Amino acid sequence: MPVLFLGHGSPMNAIEENEFVSGFRNIAKSIPKPNAILCVSAHWETKGTFVTAMENPSTIHDFGGFPKELFDVQYPAPGSPELAKATKKLIKNTDVSLDDKWGLDHGAWSVIKHLYPNADVPVIQLSLDYSQSPQYHYELAQQIKSLREKGVLVIGSGNMVHNLRMVAWDKLNAPGYGFDWAIEASEKMKKFILDGDHKQLINFRSQGIAFDLAIPTPEHYLPLLYSLALKEEGEQVSLFNDKPVAGSLTMTSVKIG
Ligand code: ZN
Repeated sequence: MPVLFLGHGSPMNAIEENEFVSGFRNIAKSIPKPNAILCVSAHWETKGTFVTAMENPSTIHDFGGFPKELFDVQYPAPGSPELAKATKKLIKNTDVSLDDKWGLDHGAWSVIKHLYPNADVPVIQLSLDYSQSPQYHYELAQQIKSLREKGVLVIGSGNMVHNLRMVAWDKLNAPGYGFDWAIEASEKMKKFILDGDHKQLINFRSQGIAFDLAIPTPEHYLPLLYSLALKEEGEQVSLFNDKPVAGSLTMTSVKIG
């Protein structure tokens, strides 16, 4: 099974028709239908590592200031307690806890709903331990590699360049606009991704000012490391939805395999 990193951007992508939504739909058509999805979302940060293990995860509307239409969205995909337990078993460098309280946050459902609109693929989420280093996250992800052979689609959902404090609000509806530093960081990230130079991406704090502006906090960037960690030697990597939006974000998404 291929692996995806999806740039999710604004929660409004859940209900809008735009080029990014088309990109999500097209990518789903280009891969086999998975038995289940494991999503690492920027929006579930915890102390320690958790995996959702309920039969029916609820749709979490973890945002404010958006129209009612967005709060009305439900994505009733089933969970998979079996996959949660299997994931827990595979991860040896920490004790993963089974969670029965979270559900699906918008980092997961706002994009997965475009991939599988019928909500007929079970989805579980794996949390991000905010107390851990990038190297730790990368190594943790490597341990779940074998899920790919079981038909599990692993999705990292975040944004490579994500600086909400610097958003150009007047450019919100003009995809393609990126500040110089955002373009610089994005180009470097893409080169490292396509070259398979994951070490440089793990050491993102040593890449200079453009990276520091692109990644003011790590939660939207770390899901990328989870996806990359699952890459096999020599496997093909391609980019899609490769555009900046609103100056300080990029929607750039990655398909591995
Ligand atoms: Zn987000």
